[in-house]
Amino acid sequence: MVDPHKSFETIGILGIPYDDDSSFLLGCRKGPDAIRDAAACHSGHWVAENGVDLQDHPRIRDLGDVEFGDSIDPRNAIETSVHHALQNQTATLSLGGDHSITYPILKAYADHFGPVNVLQLDAHPDLYDVLDDNRFSHACPFARSHESGLIQRHVQIGIRTLTPHQQIQADRFGVEVHAMTDSPQVTQLEFDGPVYLTLDLDVLDPAFAPGINHYEPGGMSVRDVLAVIQNLQTGLIGADIVELNPDRDFQDMTAHVAAKFMKEILASMLTSDG
Ligand code: MN
Ligand code: MN
Repeated sequence: MVDPHKSFETIGILGIPYDDDSSFLLGCRKGPDAIRDAAACHSGHWVAENGVDLQDHPRIRDLGDVEFGDSIDPRNAIETSVHHALQNQTATLSLGGDHSITYPILKAYADHFGPVNVLQLDAHPDLYDVLDDNRFSHACPFARSHESGLIQRHVQIGIRTLTPHQQIQADRFGVEVHAMTDSPQVTQLEFDGPVYLTLDLDVLDPAFAPGINHYEPGGMSVRDVLAVIQNLQTGLIGADIVELNPDRDFQDMTAHVAAKFMKEILASMLTSDG
């Protein structure tokens, strides 16, 4: 196993245009390009709030998109792409795609580092054993990840859909669930090792992010999420931003929120050095 405290040479932006395991609507496969377009829009710039200029940064690279085809096992393709990046001293910031992509990503990370700490921002726990006869649904990635021993410590923030079944699953897997009722106050999180951040945009109140599939009002503000990212006391070894559906967006506002998060996560990854 590789020492996760050793910093990466580069950070790779990896597009994962995949939404076949979405339970309600398709469209998240268009997320990576929408986030890239918003990030590159001339209305903004590439300086993060901590002053780090990300424009043409020598340690940031766009790895392009994972390629999918009829004959390709999608989870295997995702895992292989992330694995390849990690072997090349490149940490990944993946752009989804629906949330099912996080399971194969974590498989690659755990294979490289051993079980990882996971910080999940999400309206939903995504701990279903099965949904709609699909064990790889975007509602199930963390059940699969725990069963496979990929996660060391799992903290969830922003949850406001904890069903009885998922409460049982959370207890079974030892997940630390911060319901939305107390989440805005959870800004100073401490982990005893590097963290993988998985950011489902529906953690936000839909007022801030209409370009998602599952509207769950009463969520976090953009600033609440930025506070979590910026106040992390431990380094990030990887991250993903998932569940952007450009078909549901209004004036690209959710894409711009995702692009903002991408820039702040990149700045955090650059300055924390794993
Ligand atoms: Mn969600
Ligand atoms: Mn999710």
